Amino acid sequence: MNDHTISQVVKDNLCTGCGTCLALCPNEAIEMVIDEKKGVYVPELNEEKCNNCGICYKVCPGHEVDFKELNLEIFGKEPDDILIGNYLNCYIGYSTDYDIRYNSSSGGLVTQLLIFALEEGIIDGALVTRMKKDNPLEPEPFIARTREEVIEARGSKYCPVPANVALKEILNSKEGEKFAVVGLPCHIHGLRKAQQVNEKLKEGVDNRVISHRNHHRTCHIRIYNV
Ligand code: SF4
Ligand code: SF4
Repeated sequence: MNDHTISQVVKDNLCTGCGTCLALCPNEAIEMVIDEKKGVYVPELNEEKCNNCGICYKVCPGHEVDFKELNLEIFGKEPDDILIGNYLNCYIGYSTDYDIRYNSSSGGLVTQLLIFALEEGIIDGALVTRMKKDNPLEPEPFIARTREEVIEARGSKYCPVPANVALKEILNSKEGEKFAVVGLPCHIHGLRKAQQVNEKLKEGVDNRVISHRNHHRTCHIRIYNV
């Protein structure tokens, strides 16, 4: 039996529910479903559509992330401190827009920076997550292309979020469009592995990173030229 499958990753309890496998599957053979017992998202495979290409396993951060290889490939060097990683600079701050500051999380920094990047034409959209209007308990990752849409997604989501399913929208975007991606470490690990196998994501990388540390979680914004 082939253990190198995302089904095995799920069986081994290594799946983080990041959604990268769904976005990168060329045959739309994966659906994210809720594991009712654990309350987390897991991928479900449609074996009739799957041709065993193995891409989903290659991009999966659940079973392995080779930090040394990724650091050398992306930044050309290993970080001085493996716990912090490679970075350009670290800042603290908050939005000076009263509404954004007080209605977002941690001073609204991520929301404000995304709006700035959109309005300055640095990006065409941002992968963010809002809660569904018809089901406020269900997260909805999507590409925000306006200030209003970024604001819809403000605030932390205290539930499992398969954010990387929305990478599919970036993969289907027009040539030359640029995107920011907001995610937790497991999402960014999946994204990094996806870059290794997908030219559209790989060629578009702009290595400017803004990292936002909130409580015990880290949120990264990465800007892509896709
Ligand atoms: S093996 Fe290939 S076709 Fe099958 S689910 Fe994974 S990515 Fe999709
Ligand atoms: S890519 Fe993400 S969602 Fe898919 S199996 Fe791996 S950890 Fe789970």
